[in-house]
Amino acid sequence: MSDSLPAGAPASDFIREAVKADLASGRFSSVRTRFPPEPNGWLHIGHTKAFTIDFGVAQDFGGVCNLRFDDTNPEKEDQSYVDAIKRDIRWLGFEWGQNEFYASDYYEYLYDLAVKLIRKGKAYVDDLSDEETREYRGTAVPDKNNITHTPPGRNSPWRERSVEENLDLFARMRAGEFADGAKTLRAKIDMAHPNLVMRDPVMYRIRREPHYRTGDAWCIYPMYDFQHPLSDAKEGITHSLCSLEYEIHRPLYDWFIRECDVFPSRQIEFARLNITHTVLSKRWLLRLVKDKVVRGWDDPRMPTLAGLRRRGYTPEAVRDFLSRIGIAKTDSMVDVQLLEHCLREDLNRRAPRVMAVLRPLPLILENWPEGQVDWLDAVNNPEDPGAGTRKIPFSGRLLIERDDFMETPPPKYFRLYPGNSVRLRYGFIVTCTGFDKDPATGQVTAVRCTYNPDTRGGNAPDNSKVRGTIHWLSEAHAVPIEARLYERLFPSERPMDVPPGVDWISTVDPKSEEIVPGAMGEPALAGVKPGDFYQFERLGYFCCDPDGAGGKPVFNRSVSLKDSWAKIEKKNA
Ligand code: ATP
Ligand code: MG
Repeated sequence: MSDSLPAGAPASDFIREAVKADLASGRFSSVRTRFPPEPNGWLHIGHTKAFTIDFGVAQDFGGVCNLRFDDTNPEKEDQSYVDAIKRDIRWLGFEWGQNEFYASDYYEYLYDLAVKLIRKGKAYVDDLSDEETREYRGTAVPDKNNITHTPPGRNSPWRERSVEENLDLFARMRAGEFADGAKTLRAKIDMAHPNLVMRDPVMYRIRREPHYRTGDAWCIYPMYDFQHPLSDAKEGITHSLCSLEYEIHRPLYDWFIRECDVFPSRQIEFARLNITHTVLSKRWLLRLVKDKVVRGWDDPRMPTLAGLRRRGYTPEAVRDFLSRIGIAKTDSMVDVQLLEHCLREDLNRRAPRVMAVLRPLPLILENWPEGQVDWLDAVNNPEDPGAGTRKIPFSGRLLIERDDFMETPPPKYFRLYPGNSVRLRYGFIVTCTGFDKDPATGQVTAVRCTYNPDTRGGNAPDNSKVRGTIHWLSEAHAVPIEARLYERLFPSERPMDVPPGVDWISTVDPKSEEIVPGAMGEPALAGVKPGDFYQFERLGYFCCDPDGAGGKPVFNRSVSLKDSWAKIEKKNA
């Protein structure tokens, strides 16, 4: 772990209080946590909450945080996911050094503990099928008052096998004598337990599937509930911090630790992060990728770290977001506008301003001296005086945004229309004298204006009468760019809540990505590289995408300038 934690970890919360109490009481003498991703997908912003807590708590108590890959499902796991996960944790500013572990390295250790439980009479080999196992376990049923009851399950007919028989069968499971699914190893706890998780949970299953690290060495794989507490114990994890859905598994976590008589790791749960208009589940995200609804795990609309990064999110903005949402004990929904607000605040401080025009319309200055180019001063970042100024070319043929001109303006339209004047940012005040139209299509092809030479760079004698300021480019100097504009992938605030019979994936907004191929930018944009970010004046914050490398630059709109969160905050205040 790095010496200093990046800003963004909350200083105090119920987890830190619990850890403090454990140190004070002598339950633990030092702190060790872990972040345990399963390498079956890329990390999403929900995971950042988890690992910020894991690394942050360790850091605050002078401890260590392990990165452990919980890789015990050979079907879905892959080295490419391991690599992506490591890259993304580092991107957010966390480092684990030598403390990188794999549950798949513990297979032998876990096997020995399973044998130990068999010897104690606490585990048995079962021949029930998956379906029978579920049926014997029973389910929770609501009564007419909607109170949930869990009638007792039934013991498997194989539950009372002798220790010798179980030892023999388990060894033969490992040796590959039985077909996939033919047998399981189960913990012998209580088939009438009110908590279904405690009803003789499966510890091992038979599965002939090569594992990305252990290959064909094993044909039995440990289940999460058995593997996780014991992997924690092996690493001497003091505080095993996880999201709330594991709360009902905690008695089982404690049971395995106790019965195996290993290091007494303690599980503490915190609320999952949920964000409006967003799905935060690897399973759902994987489907978006597989069904090609998005261009990949790092599509700028994805809530994955790679997607956010490509969209233009900075680590600073994500950490700021995490520090603002805090660590609650109950699940809640965070407004996606808060996330956008955090990005806007960060980019407002840091992003250089430039001008770009998404849908160019030529503007001809009829009284501009033929062939003359004037170099105007433009401020690079009004929030950062140290960012300085740059020179931008001004000429008699400009490009403006198509929607900054209207032939017949609606009320309160302060931009260009015949007879009206606007200020060109950093430049002159111009007055619209007319426009050209393609008679065949009826489309406006150019706007004609005159400029007032006395108004250069903001020295406007008649400033008060000019209400609109628009951005522009000098046509001869502008460079072609592609802009990609993004809307929310899910128009619905809670995309996970779909009415019965509706497939959630059908609720994706097909227009959530709009490609604008004919955009133009300032000459400064000719030399950009992927990851560079700018504010395109009046249009929003944009980040250079890897797709444009070497050719026409591609810019993703990270976030628009309109801060709806600031408005919400103001209203609440
Ligand atoms: P998903 O539900 O997206 O598939 P997962 O829990 O299966 O996620 P893991 O790789 O097992 O994915 O997660 C690693 C850690 O991240 C776990 O400790 C889990 O509790 C935590 N985590 C996952 N999603 C969230 C979330 N939305 N908010 C907070 N923590 C989360
Ligand atoms: Mg999980």
